[in-house]
Amino acid sequence: MKKLSFLLMLLAFPASAAPLQVVATLPSLAAIARDVGGPLVQVEALTSPRQDPHYADAKPSLIVTLNHADLLLVNGLELEIGWLPPLLQQSRNARIQKGTAGYVDASQSVRLLGVPKGPIDRAMGDVHPGGNPHFLVDPRAGARIAVAVGNALAKLDATHAATFQQNAAALAQKLDALAKSESARFAQLPAARRNLVVYHDSLVYLVDWLGLHQVATLEPRPGIAPNPQHVAEVLQQMKTAAVSVIAQEEFYPQNTGKTLGAIGHAKLVVLPGGARFPTEAYANHVKALAQALYTGLQP
Ligand SMILES: [Zn+2]
Repeated sequence: MKKLSFLLMLLAFPASAAPLQVVATLPSLAAIARDVGGPLVQVEALTSPRQDPHYADAKPSLIVTLNHADLLLVNGLELEIGWLPPLLQQSRNARIQKGTAGYVDASQSVRLLGVPKGPIDRAMGDVHPGGNPHFLVDPRAGARIAVAVGNALAKLDATHAATFQQNAAALAQKLDALAKSESARFAQLPAARRNLVVYHDSLVYLVDWLGLHQVATLEPRPGIAPNPQHVAEVLQQMKTAAVSVIAQEEFYPQNTGKTLGAIGHAKLVVLPGGARFPTEAYANHVKALAQALYTGLQP
């Protein structure tokens, strides 16, 4: 009986009418995909905004999720290198392997910052050799990714190509408008109120978008935990530049930021680590990032 109803279902819904299964490594990418695909796609995220995307948990359940995907969206620039490759290999899903139409690397459509100028070595810490991979905090990057996702969906489901591309163009326009209005608002802040200290070098695109000035990072090198000597130097830099905000995503440890904030008279602003997918749209997420910083930078 079960078998029969399954066959009837196949007849009623030919392959082209079933929603495409989209899997994104990060919740903000998933949120973009849902906006672009609408009811024509089913989207899942492999990680939550509370997880550090460098070291996400390679849970076996994620292999099952990847196995049924038609499209995989990755951040790229080696952000997921510590956990995604074995999952992808074990998924046994040829449709979403690197180099296929079902694999989209978001970093390839973004204007990159933080590309190392010279050769890199281990002493520099966990530096991403292709450039800084933390671009999802910038709606201008989100706009370009939306267009790339629209094009990828259009290739996989040609019947709805126009819808995907229209949705992508509408989202890109909305995000570019948001980027402009927020950077105009931040431009009203006096220069002295635009200095901040960050935990990891993960907010450079946000700093660039909003015209802020990143004075120092609490990590002495990317991926290396703060040490007393480095923190003392940061405190000195904070005093010199009159820094009023220490900003970090929710998944980084907060003890150093709290202590340094108390000694250096700065506010610790804890930012969401990504869109609260599936309940929060990407545009609202980046707006919330800007608002949290704007509030923090007020006297
Ligand atoms: Zn990083």
